Amino acid sequence: MPLQDLHSRTHRSLRISVVDKCDLRCTYCMPEDQHFLKREELMTREEVVTIARLFVERYGITKIRLTGGEPLLRPDVVEIVRDLAAMRVKLGLTTNAVSLHKYIDGLAAAGLRSLNVSLDTFDADRFKRIARRDLYEQVWNNVRLAHDRGMHIKLNMVVMRGVNDDEILRFVELTEHNGIDVRFIEFMPFAGNHWGRDKVYTYAEMLGLIGSVHSFDRLNDDINSTAKTYRVPGWRGTFAVISTVTEPFCGSCDRLRITAEGKMRNCLFAREETDLLSALRRGDDITELIEANVAAKHAMLGGLPPFKPEKQEEVLNDLSERPMVSIGG
Ligand code: SF4
Repeated sequence: MPLQDLHSRTHRSLRISVVDKCDLRCTYCMPEDQHFLKREELMTREEVVTIARLFVERYGITKIRLTGGEPLLRPDVVEIVRDLAAMRVKLGLTTNAVSLHKYIDGLAAAGLRSLNVSLDTFDADRFKRIARRDLYEQVWNNVRLAHDRGMHIKLNMVVMRGVNDDEILRFVELTEHNGIDVRFIEFMPFAGNHWGRDKVYTYAEMLGLIGSVHSFDRLNDDINSTAKTYRVPGWRGTFAVISTVTEPFCGSCDRLRITAEGKMRNCLFAREETDLLSALRRGDDITELIEANVAAKHAMLGGLPPFKPEKQEEVLNDLSERPMVSIGG
């Protein structure tokens, strides 16, 4: 029985955060004073698999993406990937690639074929300012390693005005000779990330800038896709924009989320959560909890006002207290 909400959206995609810690401290994702979960609060491998299997077998989920924090900080991440790959779903993983060299062969052998890698700059000093860690070379070398090992790479860049928007063209030009899919993400508001509407480099501005140098064609995206995808004619890779701030795409949203401590969120910006893990650990049936959570899904942006300049104060006041690092990309 598919999970359909009151706005007639059928949910096929599940994002599972398997850890809330990260080995980077990106300014747009992790607040300075972030506290982390204790080990016993985290879902175990068995609990991740049990919940995932229920969503796949009972509710027809066909896409699962593992996220974090940084999922490669879980020592059992390869085993979790193997268990999920056996469920015959489209499987992905979001990583900052810091320790990818340690896991790439294990992940590939376990059945992973696609990686979303967060990279916001090609400048080592700027990387250090954004991620608050001096690890640019290691990350970039690992991206190339994974690409050379045949992993499909989506490169996620959070574009922040006056911080890294001057690198957009360089990211696009990476797609000339590489079959990499670059995705530009509009800077979104989350607890503790100092968001301001004036810091958003918009979808329209991105296309304007790219169009001032390159011609490009719009590609057909999957109806539930978060991204609007383009290709410069004759180039191997693609670039895309995720325009949650200026052109949200909630009407076709098919995504649900589970946090590392087993709480269900029906939207990236949800302010209400459903604790599945405590119920599961009590041996309770969690299906009613899941269905009630989906039934409560807001039409747009988790019920937040639109991210317009004149609504900024309202948006910031109404935000969930949960920062991006413990929601997962
Ligand atoms: S903001 Fe929420 S409802 Fe809209 S697309 Fe994102 S997750 Fe879906």
